[in-house]
Amino acid sequence: MIRGQNPAWVGRGNMSSPAKNYDVAIIGAGIIGAACAREFACAGLRIAVVEAGLGGATSAGMGHIVVMDDSEPQFALTRYSQQLWRELAPELPPDVEYMPCGTIWIAADDQEMQEVRRKQQYYGARAVPTQILDPHALYEAEPHLRPGLVGALLVPEDLVIYAPCAARFLLRQAQARSCDLYLDKVIEVRDDGLVLQNSGSLHAGAVINAAGTWAPQLTPGLEMRPRKGQHGITDRYPGFVRHQLVELGYLKSAHTLTAESFAFNVQPRLTGQLLIGSSRQFGVENTAVDNHIIAGMLARACQYLPELSRMSAIRAWTGFRAATADKLPVIGKCPGRERLYLATGHEGLGITTSLATARLLLDQILGRASAIPVEPYLPHRVMETAHA
Ligand SMILES: Cc1cc2nc3c(=O)[nH]c(=O)nc-3n(C[C@H](O)[C@H](O)[C@H](O)COP(=O)(O)OP(=O)(O)OC[C@H]3O[C@@H](n4cnc5c(N)ncnc54)[C@H](O)[C@@H]3O)c2cc1C
Repeated sequence: MIRGQNPAWVGRGNMSSPAKNYDVAIIGAGIIGAACAREFACAGLRIAVVEAGLGGATSAGMGHIVVMDDSEPQFALTRYSQQLWRELAPELPPDVEYMPCGTIWIAADDQEMQEVRRKQQYYGARAVPTQILDPHALYEAEPHLRPGLVGALLVPEDLVIYAPCAARFLLRQAQARSCDLYLDKVIEVRDDGLVLQNSGSLHAGAVINAAGTWAPQLTPGLEMRPRKGQHGITDRYPGFVRHQLVELGYLKSAHTLTAESFAFNVQPRLTGQLLIGSSRQFGVENTAVDNHIIAGMLARACQYLPELSRMSAIRAWTGFRAATADKLPVIGKCPGRERLYLATGHEGLGITTSLATARLLLDQILGRASAIPVEPYLPHRVMETAHA
């Protein structure tokens, strides 16, 4: 239980069935549900997490914990959450593969170099350390890049984790305190809890829908679109790349709302493997790897790292990001529902922003002030009725 600031529903509910009576029931054990479970359990709440095993985005993503500056709210959330990851770092087990490698945003021409300078100014004004790399410094940092690049921006506090193990760690931390995990499917969200396919009902003071791209199935009217992404991974080539390398053209790819786009984005893994991305597709629902996308992505990667063409790629896979129209996640109370909260719509930044999402949601539930303004992420803007 929370001491001091208990909301009215904490500790209430169906006391005739105490074993299935919780303060908060969370739908989904991806990184968002797991982060919420840990945050809420650390605050003393009794938590149930229900996970259907559908194979979500957390197992498909890159795990790049990156500060982004598409908008002020996006910057605020990514930076806040990155700081929470850095605070948590000493507690993370080795399988989370925490790697403080930094990001290098690569400029291929003078126009992209202008973007390097703009980004540096933006981050500098908000106390994010950065360093402009001239060609000499760039090739010293990453000797395998192709010749002819004009410079780059190093963001040293960006980092990399292995998201599936991070989610498992967060969930286990919650379970060690006050969280029960149900491997089952939620088939109905009620005012007083959840109905599960095989395990009956759970009673809860509040429900959090953290079901990723499936969230609209349980909360009709929530406007989000699945955005397919694909990755490939190589065999082990330790030390070949030292930072997360991203072309500045990536920003165009990430921000475009057209059907298909891809860009050079390569991540070193602690295993010595290279994780190669990244693509974005709207309007595609099948989970199959699209050969033309993977081929285009690999060709792009080889343009930046020519020696890649002689390396072995051992696996490719796909995943779906939960995309909102304004590219911000949905964090807060569902309009018209007293006890239903939403934590979804994180698109390509949910690993980064998971810890801050959980903290902001707990703040709202406890009526506490938050470290950053919560208004930009509130759900009313993505509910169908908002446009009626
Ligand atoms: C290709 C790709 C690359 C990415 N790269 C990055 C990156 O580098 N950095 C970054 O920060 N983010 C990245 N992301 C985004 C990030 O992976 C997601 O934003 C994040 O994983 C979303 O987590 P989630 O918990 O909301 O959703 P999910 O991981 O999808 O979890 C939702 C869970 O809900 C469960 N569920 C659904 N319906 C039900 C139900 N009815 N009952 C019970 N359980 C249910 C599902 O089984 C699933 O496990 C990437 C995503 C993709 C696809």
